[in-house]
Amino acid sequence: MISIEEAQQIILSRTGLLGTEEVPLLHALHRVIAEDVIAPWDIPPADHSAMDGYAFAFDDVREGALEVCGFLPAGVAPTEPVSPGCAMKIMTGAPIPPGCDTVVPVEDVLEEGTTIRLRGMVKRGDHIRCRGEEVGAGDLVVASGSLLRPPEIGILASLGKTTATVFRRVRVAVLATGDELLQPGSIPEPGKIINSNSTSIAAQLLEAGAEPLMLGIARDDLETTRRKIGEGLQADILITTGGVSVGDRDFVREALLDLEGELLFWKVAMKPGKPVAFAIVREKAVFALPGNPVAAMVAFEQFVRPSLLKMMGHTRLFRPVVRGTLTEPVRNKGGRPHLVRVAVRLADGRYQATPTGNQSSARLSSLTSGNGLVKLPPDAALAAGSEVELQLLDRHFEMGLP
Ligand code: AMP
Ligand code: MG
Repeated sequence: MISIEEAQQIILSRTGLLGTEEVPLLHALHRVIAEDVIAPWDIPPADHSAMDGYAFAFDDVREGALEVCGFLPAGVAPTEPVSPGCAMKIMTGAPIPPGCDTVVPVEDVLEEGTTIRLRGMVKRGDHIRCRGEEVGAGDLVVASGSLLRPPEIGILASLGKTTATVFRRVRVAVLATGDELLQPGSIPEPGKIINSNSTSIAAQLLEAGAEPLMLGIARDDLETTRRKIGEGLQADILITTGGVSVGDRDFVREALLDLEGELLFWKVAMKPGKPVAFAIVREKAVFALPGNPVAAMVAFEQFVRPSLLKMMGHTRLFRPVVRGTLTEPVRNKGGRPHLVRVAVRLADGRYQATPTGNQSSARLSSLTSGNGLVKLPPDAALAAGSEVELQLLDRHFEMGLP
């Protein structure tokens, strides 16, 4: 059995970049740009006033008084130079009129009829945002490979862009397996349970920026499993859940081999999530995740998410890991590393982690009441107060979990 890290390495070594597409700028949010964006003009495009105030030539100030000779709102280009000894009333964002080099804010002058008197010290160049101060024409503003957050989207808009070329979203086929499964919306009959995995995996895909394609349920026979997997290969990658263990009715591995897939691993030393396989079938990656709902989601986090992110051009592939303190003792009696679900909180600026109770891999509430994982080595026993590394699955700790 290989380790989590070895499995991640194998997966990432077989993960390449997807193609690109041009999308409306707001659709590019949280995606990775696939073009260098060069500024076509200076930002600001001219010298602008940074304040509501008066613009004048610094050398003209005599005894601190100036004659007001006009008014310039934002959005209007100045035409006439300001005469010597005069000041132009100017609004924030208006271009500095020719002949002026300094702005004094309105609150720093005494207005006396058509004259203003400066109250205090003024320096040449005060309160002017200079042309090209932020970006010069021809500068590289957003480099290919950058993640587009709201500020990047904003700066692209300021350069006049309405679209961006970004890495495409991964299209991921999601297939559940099991004779016991009913689709959500059904009332469970005896012996049946609802297929929750497809929906939780789809939610994880959406959160990672991928596009789920729901393939429904493959019943537990080889022929159906093989056919449904074949259908899934039309997507960029395929995720299956269940049927990958060693039970009499577990056909996923066999179906992958039947389809001449290259099976790279089919067991990983971890709890939850040991039965997890990774195969390349007809050049498509197939992740066969465990059936147990928690195991499927935890395995998605460790193996699928980093791969999806890499395909979509991201360079930060793993969840953040921080150091924090356990509030309760934890033990791993088993021989495999245990990913213990914990609720992580910030208390006085320090991370604290509390295990989420019964850690059964079938119990989704061990994830709903938490937001992080602690990896406990085999046979480890940690006392309350121990310092541990915490993998943060989401940021809800900032909002304070119960
Ligand atoms: P398996 O690996 O197929 O034996 O599944 C392991 C356990 O996970 C069984 O108890 C299944 O009932 C459960 N399970 C499998 N698939 C799903 C699913 N799509 N949604 C919820 N539970 C599932
Ligand atoms: Mg099954």
